[in-house]
Amino acid sequence: MTGNADIGLIGLAVMGENLVLNMESRGFTVAVFNRTTAKVDAFVNGRGKGKKFIGCDSIQDFVKSLKKPRKIMMMIHAGSPVDAVIQELLPLIEKGDIIIDGGNSLYTDSDRRVKELEKKGILFVGTGVSGGEEGALKGPSIMPGGNPAAWNSIKPILQAISAKVQPGDQPCCDWVGDGGAGHYVKMVHNGIEYGDMQLISEAYFIMKHYLGLNNQELKDVFAQWNKSELDSYLIEITSDIFGKKDEHGEYVIDEILDSAGQKGTGKWTAMNALDMGIPATLIGESVFARCLSSLKDERVKAAKILPGPNASESSKHFQGDKKQFIEYVKNALFASKLVSYAQGFTMMRHAAKEYGWKLNYGSIALLWRGGCIIRSTFLGKIKEAFDKNPNLENLLSDSWFVDQLKVAQTGWRQVASASLLHGIPTPAFTSALSYYDGYRCPTLSANLIQAQRDYFGGHTYEKLGGKKGEFFHTNWTGRGGNTHSTSYNA
Ligand code: NAP
Repeated sequence: MTGNADIGLIGLAVMGENLVLNMESRGFTVAVFNRTTAKVDAFVNGRGKGKKFIGCDSIQDFVKSLKKPRKIMMMIHAGSPVDAVIQELLPLIEKGDIIIDGGNSLYTDSDRRVKELEKKGILFVGTGVSGGEEGALKGPSIMPGGNPAAWNSIKPILQAISAKVQPGDQPCCDWVGDGGAGHYVKMVHNGIEYGDMQLISEAYFIMKHYLGLNNQELKDVFAQWNKSELDSYLIEITSDIFGKKDEHGEYVIDEILDSAGQKGTGKWTAMNALDMGIPATLIGESVFARCLSSLKDERVKAAKILPGPNASESSKHFQGDKKQFIEYVKNALFASKLVSYAQGFTMMRHAAKEYGWKLNYGSIALLWRGGCIIRSTFLGKIKEAFDKNPNLENLLSDSWFVDQLKVAQTGWRQVASASLLHGIPTPAFTSALSYYDGYRCPTLSANLIQAQRDYFGGHTYEKLGGKKGEFFHTNWTGRGGNTHSTSYNA
């Protein structure tokens, strides 16, 4: 039996509910199903009332209500629930039907699902969807990847509901690549989001403690920054956050426990960077900064015994021009952000090689220009950099990036030194600067590490100016022999 729904969605939680409202508003008839079926009834009689929704009380009715080839999107908890729902669907669907997983699934799971379902003739797509509740309703950034044979059928729906950017109303949705590519790109997006949030938090912290800015002043600074090269969704909401008061007239920000949560996508990105040997230090630092923040009780105890300058009293030491230093903080934030995006795109370049994907980096930057949490005008510059040179090794070498870093680095160094001197934790600012200095340093200290490795473990070393791949061993103590370990990279 065939129904008349253009697409079906399983999972009427915050993302699913808003996505289907978005689909319906673009003229599509949408079948909806949820494990707890009371939510289906509540939705079709609530926000969905009088609209082109087909509410289904069973997964059988849900499948029957769909036009063929069936397009079924899931917006549910990532992990085993996705496999469980696929197993429920399999006896009910047929070859050529399409399953789209729009949750935050691990890309290796999506890769596996594409392969397993392809054997059964089912086309599986793993797509990142970013933008939270509002994005889902008004137009998210959508990053689909998986079985390419599905793309033509789902493209009109996904591009219709996605965010659009100017010029020319370009959809923030395009095919990313085969296998787990869509979820991989979404994972890196989330890692970059961790980095952006950490950097903004550090900017706030140093301006609050070292410059003594109050919430209203912080609100104004972020609002000003949002009119500059930092123009972005996260800067915009940060300004709003500093202005928000509760029913007692107290600032909400000052009532929130300083212990950050996380759901795992930042950790996955950092783990993948470690696996590939890519220095994505900003994402790593941002994940660890959240871990450190969650040790609230330990931190409170440590504050009483560990010596060092007190960050919250550092404004006593500030003697310069506040306006100038705010500009330096802006420089530090922007320069660190450049490093962070350069690292994220480097990860994708290496992943593409490792997994055999053909990623279009300019197009990925465009997917993130609108709809998603990290949307910003600056992403247009990344697109331009890859349009100029699609094989760019590291975004930092693009001429626009070089020019920005020329301007920003003095302030960046001022902020990093002030924070270190006054005990104000700014792990992302300082590690971004260390990465930057390391990346532009033609000779690092790693010759000593190689010597130590060879000294204690006979791990061998290559010689400066020597042939790549030609390894030497020194009998450092005169006691060891000439036997050495084999050379490989873990
Ligand atoms: P959520 O709280 O992550 O998931 C709740 C939904 O999953 C409910 O519909 C729930 O059904 C369903 N579910 C859970 N276990 C299930 C199972 N074993 N079988 C069938 N259904 C099951 O909701 P969400 O925040 O809307 O997120 C949905 C997906 O989008 C997640 O993967 C999330 O990571 C991703 N995402 C979320 C956001 C966001 O801002 N919230 C942004 C982008 C992506 P019941 O009602 O029956 O419990």
